[in-house]
Amino acid sequence: MVGVETAKPVLWELSPGDWEKWMHQMEEPSYRAQQVWQWLWHRGVASPQLMTDLPVSLRRKLEESFDHSEPTLLHMSESRDGTRKLLWLMPKGGQVETVWIPHSQRYTVCVSSQVGCSLNCRFCATGQLGLERQLTGYEIFLQVYAVKYRLGLPVTHVVFMGMGEPLLNYTSLIEAIEGLTTRLGMSARRLTVSTVGIPKGIRRLADRKEPFELAFSLHSAIPHKRQMLIPLAAHIPLEEIREALVTYCQKRMEWVTLEYVLLKGVNDGREDAQALRRFVAPPLRAKVNLIEYNPVPGLSFEPSPRMEAFREELLREGLIATIRRSRGADISAGCGQLARHIR
Ligand code: SF4
Repeated sequence: MVGVETAKPVLWELSPGDWEKWMHQMEEPSYRAQQVWQWLWHRGVASPQLMTDLPVSLRRKLEESFDHSEPTLLHMSESRDGTRKLLWLMPKGGQVETVWIPHSQRYTVCVSSQVGCSLNCRFCATGQLGLERQLTGYEIFLQVYAVKYRLGLPVTHVVFMGMGEPLLNYTSLIEAIEGLTTRLGMSARRLTVSTVGIPKGIRRLADRKEPFELAFSLHSAIPHKRQMLIPLAAHIPLEEIREALVTYCQKRMEWVTLEYVLLKGVNDGREDAQALRRFVAPPLRAKVNLIEYNPVPGLSFEPSPRMEAFREELLREGLIATIRRSRGADISAGCGQLARHIR
């Protein structure tokens, strides 16, 4: 039953080897393992009753032996720009949001990695919820599975930018990456992990072989301003995060993206652009992504009218800078707006 802890093993977590072992224990031919795998991951069918080329007795054994609970869709809102925000009840309880963003030929799913978030970034609606619990790895990749197979929407990219800080749920993050690549067949190049800056987690990612992208939510390269926006920054010096990012770039021979939400009168001045220039000095290899702020009710921040001018300043400083226009803001699906408010 959805939302209730069960002692049964979870169907989503079994590897091809686990399936073969289980079939062997059940005295079933080993090719049955491939059949179940096909149903699950290539056809999007998880209910054993619907795996019609399996014998009825085997379907019954599967049903009795495994928990195949999926996220339950509680609400879906659609933006004028086509973005959809989905509110799910997760298999192990708790509600999270997932956002599906269509943009020309690109269909991105923004997944949550925690129920709520403990970090309380001042401009973010999720931060006001506090942390309820960690999601399991399969609860993270099932958000994508459900978008693809239950809603029938195309998926080309996944970003770990929804509710929660993925590097504070590291094991589940890695399980989710493995699930997306080895089960749902996505290229790791199309996955982006976004962090507010957990040096230990960044260093661990640096040692991974999967070619995913890394985005760091900088928002200000001036320490006291960053601390005002991100309370965690008071405990982790920016220089320590920068060193971890440099290690990441050097070990993986890659660039990182610096996410920068532009806030009126807070981080959009000349001194902010110059601080950014100093932060991006070699050996760090980074491009800057300027993000339009989506107002959150009850918070006093406003979007900066200096988006283009700030970008020009960065370009003059020799940086690579792009602007990310807000998507789904009218349904509170934009960056920093996920707080389970139904619109
Ligand atoms: S911005 Fe990310 S890390 Fe910060 S409170 Fe929001 S969800 Fe958590």
